[in-house]
Amino acid sequence: MNLERYRRQILVKEFGQRGQETLSKKNIVIIGGGGLGSNSANIFVRMGIGTIDIIDKDTIDITNLHRTSLFTQEDVGKSKALILEERLHAINPEAHIRGINQKITKENIESFVKNADVIVDGTDSVSLRHLINNVSLHYNIPWVYAGVYETVGMIMGVLPQKTPCFQCISQNIPESIPGEIPVLGSLPATIASIQCNETIKLLLGKPLAGLIIYDVWDQCFDVMNIKRNPDCPVCGKK
Ligand SMILES: [Zn+2]
Repeated sequence: MNLERYRRQILVKEFGQRGQETLSKKNIVIIGGGGLGSNSANIFVRMGIGTIDIIDKDTIDITNLHRTSLFTQEDVGKSKALILEERLHAINPEAHIRGINQKITKENIESFVKNADVIVDGTDSVSLRHLINNVSLHYNIPWVYAGVYETVGMIMGVLPQKTPCFQCISQNIPESIPGEIPVLGSLPATIASIQCNETIKLLLGKPLAGLIIYDVWDQCFDVMNIKRNPDCPVCGKK
């Protein structure tokens, strides 16, 4: 590993060379390569995560460009996952990057995430998040939820059997709304950045913040300390 690339980051006291070396050995899987996933992948590869898989079956649409990172107008019509693989590799050739142009299903999710140290949520689907939550609890793999709507984003890291899971907080999460989700262009980058910090903390064994809610328009920031639901059908005592 070329430590010079990370010199300014290694100077951060909470992080240091040990943090850098730890990240270089970690494996994350980002599910979704759109507004959240492209921005978080861009940050992760620059910060020095060793292995990054990005799974997305979609192609780049002109309507994605206002809120995503790394895509250009010439990429419209091409695979999000494969373009991200190409761009991320160019940013940091030391990282192992794999773009996977596939749809995640109940049947195949295990094969994609079983070796992950953390799963990173880049989807816009509540049902897919419940699927990630179930597989996370079943295989004891932490994951970091993030969602965006209009000007508001939410983030929460899930450490199985230690912190509330997605089901525990599901009454606080808006259901999927039919049709197009309104999103301010600056929002996903901001929320992905916070999501990346919670992911890095998980990878370094640091405590998580809780359920973070940020309105980038009103500049309202809140961290909710939610307790686990003992009767949760996913993480509670069966
Ligand atoms: Zn739960």
